[in-house]
Amino acid sequence: MLDPIVLVETDMESLHSQLGGLQYDNAPESAAIAKIKKEYGLFINGQFTSPKDHKSFFTINPATEEKLSKISQADANDVDAAVQSAKRAYEKVWSKTTGPERAKYLFRIARLIQERSRELAVTETLDNGKPIRETRDIDVPLAAAHFFYYAGWADKLSFAGYGADPKPIGVAGQIIPWNFPLLMAAWKLAPALAAGNTCVLKPAETTPLTALLLAEILQQAELPDGVVNIITGDGSTGAALVEHPDVNKIAFTGSTGVGRMIQQRIAGSGKHLTLELGGKGANIVFEDAPIDEMVEGIIDGIFFNQGHVCCAGSRLLVQESIAEDVLRRLMRRVEQLRVGDPMDKNTDVGAVNSAEQLARISELTATGEEEGATRLTSTCVLPSKGFWFPPTVFTNVSQSHRIAREEIFGPVLSMLTFRTPEEAVQKANNTNYGLACGVWSEKGSRTLWVAERLRAGVIWANTYNKFDPTSPFGGVRESGFGREGGRQGLEAYLNV
Ligand code: ADP
Repeated sequence: MLDPIVLVETDMESLHSQLGGLQYDNAPESAAIAKIKKEYGLFINGQFTSPKDHKSFFTINPATEEKLSKISQADANDVDAAVQSAKRAYEKVWSKTTGPERAKYLFRIARLIQERSRELAVTETLDNGKPIRETRDIDVPLAAAHFFYYAGWADKLSFAGYGADPKPIGVAGQIIPWNFPLLMAAWKLAPALAAGNTCVLKPAETTPLTALLLAEILQQAELPDGVVNIITGDGSTGAALVEHPDVNKIAFTGSTGVGRMIQQRIAGSGKHLTLELGGKGANIVFEDAPIDEMVEGIIDGIFFNQGHVCCAGSRLLVQESIAEDVLRRLMRRVEQLRVGDPMDKNTDVGAVNSAEQLARISELTATGEEEGATRLTSTCVLPSKGFWFPPTVFTNVSQSHRIAREEIFGPVLSMLTFRTPEEAVQKANNTNYGLACGVWSEKGSRTLWVAERLRAGVIWANTYNKFDPTSPFGGVRESGFGREGGRQGLEAYLNV
């Protein structure tokens, strides 16, 4: 049987002796390009309202706890103003704008995101805590790619498979989370606009800055007033948007608890709904998988974006025959992850997004040990200010443990073993969620056999956390319904 502690301690010693002298120079990105304003109003009808009359809150840098900007808290009246603006824009302008014209705006927005990509990446990293390497290479390019992709659909809706002349829904209320702020805004806005809807978007309260920067980009693109409105605030702002009678569609990405509540609130109202909720993804590793690539895939699956990823591969299912070897290689790689200043271009793992999220991760991981699992943690030194959690792997995990069942949404991996493909499938499916899974094997027939039996919206083979605007993304069961991305992503915004 595995003796993870001895195994890893021995390995760590030899690793430290090998790497002890190896130092990287810091390579910090400059924050100067992010021209964050002292305070922001709400973006309604193409203008930023003066923030003076609003209640407000501060958005902070989670890596330093420094205040970045004062943000307006929209109340029900502000939500109403935003929805009325979107409704007017829908009736008077956007529903009469042809597909090729809408496409031009989307292309323009995509190009402006590219032009201002460095500013967006730096702002996102400051506000969210994720490494600049990720905002620069993943979040921002993918956000631009979504606008480019859906620009291509705007004049081809009649070829999308939803009838000869599919119609938009009207006003879409869109509520997004804090883990990929700009990217989630792009996932929501691009297909909605391509399909001819107008939008009221509410970013998460801890990460509003890139959505507000996107509002400036929409002004720059001369998108007609009111076609997109961006209102900031907490859950009460989101709730007012959900309940507004003139909102025809709600698109929500966030926790399963809030998603469930939204579904109850709008039941019987006739509003369209798509939900992208939590997950507890299984990364299934067979003994014939290419081991080094697979270890990289496991690392990427759980430590990308500090594990603040709804489709994270947070449960590792390893075939028993290779479990020791995989754990040894995995912990060696965990020890090499560079944790710290998100603005440093060498950083692999940045700050946890908020004190609240850090408390949630700490609470859940404490139950891991209480319930009998073994905690293995990177020996990295964490910064003294800000919110940090070291990359962590739990072994001796059983399926009944909370760390194997509940979404931790942090850099924490729970490792379980299996002997046969049947057992792997049974364990992978033993969850209320159904967002994503990964399968690692040299054998295509085995991968397909397993994939056919997994209950999840997305299944990656010999890779993990790969996103592309052409590829539909979404869950089953408590991970939600509806798809974002691809041709299927249009369906969420068409009256079909
Ligand atoms: P998390 O727990 O990961 O922060 P939430 O589901 O609470 O995720 O938040 C996701 C988004 O939903 C945020 O923009 C948040 O403000 C919003 N939100 C929270 N509560 C509600 C609610 N009752 N109705 C609508 N939106 C909400």
